[in-house]
Amino acid sequence: MDRTIEQLLEIQDKDIRIFNLKMQIESVPEEKEKVKHLMSEAEDAVTVAKSNYLEIEKNIKEEEIEIASLKEKILNLQGKSASIKKNDEYKALLKEIKQFNEKIELHEDKQLVFWEKLEKSKKSREKATKTLDSTKGRIENSLKDLDTRNENCNMQIKKVREVRKSLTESLPTELFNNYQRLLKRRSSGKIFIKAVVPLQGENCGGCFLKVTPQIKSSLRKSSFGQCENCGVILYLP
Ligand SMILES: [Zn+2]
Repeated sequence: MDRTIEQLLEIQDKDIRIFNLKMQIESVPEEKEKVKHLMSEAEDAVTVAKSNYLEIEKNIKEEEIEIASLKEKILNLQGKSASIKKNDEYKALLKEIKQFNEKIELHEDKQLVFWEKLEKSKKSREKATKTLDSTKGRIENSLKDLDTRNENCNMQIKKVREVRKSLTESLPTELFNNYQRLLKRRSSGKIFIKAVVPLQGENCGGCFLKVTPQIKSSLRKSSFGQCENCGVILYLP
């Protein structure tokens, strides 16, 4: 293979390398966002667990207040009982006390259920806090890794660019400019489309259309040619 085309292919390889490195750099912010999202999920879980715990604590206190007020009512009634003379009134009073005691029992049962819930909630709160701590550690590492990736890629790009520059120096200017133009025209930000491709049998390696016999014969004479259809630089493999 002709040295010129070899050089051009090497330049194209470097451009592909630079393109891929740039893609890796571009993906860093998005991946950082993903990582940070994991963090906010873990934080949310702790917030939910904490408020759940506080809510149950509040329920227990409410039951306590209710029980205390019922007990006070009973004490009041018991205080009155000494002054009651009539048997009917006394019976009614005892009945009322009994009803209050029954209510207290109901509230105490409810309280027990809340205590159990509180215990479970405490465990899930601890678990969420632990998860958050380990997530924090993991995320710090991931963010550091992403920063390292960024630095490494930039360093690599610098190196590859230097090699590329030395390769371009001895290349015919017109050919190189043509190559640059083709790259710019064909590649978008998301995909790299080669500007130099081999002839594949009778067909262009870029657009896969059959090339004219003139191009084929000119390719045999010189080291490269251009596809009449898509414009890529063709060479004989
Ligand atoms: Zn073509």
